[in-house]
Amino acid sequence: MKFSEQLLVKPGHKVRLEDFDSEGSAHVRDKDHAAEIMKKRTGRLEHLQQVLYAENKHALLIILQGMDAAGKDGTIRHVMSGVNPQGCDVTSFKVPTPIEASHDFLWRIHNAVPPRGMIGIFNRSQYEDVLVVRVHNLVPKKIWEKRYDQINEFEELLTENSVTILKFFLHISKDEQQKRFTERHEDPRKYWKVSASDASERKYWDDYQRAYEVLLSKCSKKHAPWFVIPANKKWFRDLAVAGIIIEALENLKMKFPAHVADGAEVGKS
Ligand code: ADP
Repeated sequence: MKFSEQLLVKPGHKVRLEDFDSEGSAHVRDKDHAAEIMKKRTGRLEHLQQVLYAENKHALLIILQGMDAAGKDGTIRHVMSGVNPQGCDVTSFKVPTPIEASHDFLWRIHNAVPPRGMIGIFNRSQYEDVLVVRVHNLVPKKIWEKRYDQINEFEELLTENSVTILKFFLHISKDEQQKRFTERHEDPRKYWKVSASDASERKYWDDYQRAYEVLLSKCSKKHAPWFVIPANKKWFRDLAVAGIIIEALENLKMKFPAHVADGAEVGKS
């Protein structure tokens, strides 16, 4: 079965994260075998991104969400390693600035949506406005509870305007998060990743898991699907995310544009 079917949150399905695997399994012998497959996939992605850019008809928006240390940065680094940096924009959404906060919650998001020909990656996204905002009551419930529908309608608008949307929840276990936090404290090359909020937010693990279950249940749509990616093993996570992106781009049946008649003279030897 393809990753896109195996890991898809079926629209309308009520998600319980306990039912979703965070380890992952595939017909892969070991890490070396995974690296071999990944090399082919990054090459394929490089090619597909070139056609996306040349054809200039579609945009691709990739949304990455996950608990702290789930591997959002690592996924971007590995999966997009072959892609021409000119064709790809990464936007990391942090606590809204005063200007962002003075607008509606989708203002800063819409502004970062990739134009046709480009791949845009969101490291965190509009979904923070029904995650951290919900868990910590940053706005009243009557405001955030409307946001699921608002997000669905916004995403529909985008897909009707040539944006393909893929949303990935990087699913790690609570033990794996602890392991990664410990590594960050023990490895001098990872000290910079330690954040004061890691320990305090971990106390809200269950609340975040529930908030994820609600958004995965309400916002996985045919036009903008959510995928729950088993992310304890980094190599599995990367293979799965790359596989789903490649399949979605192949489904667009893109082509390099035909020869431009006006340039024909220059091209003749
Ligand atoms: P990251 O963890 O993504 O590497 P940071 O450590 O700077 O980067 O974390 C970004 C922080 O911004 C997170 O705690 C996240 O919950 C917060 N954030 C993002 N969007 C919003 C939002 N709309 N409202 C409040 N906080 C937000």
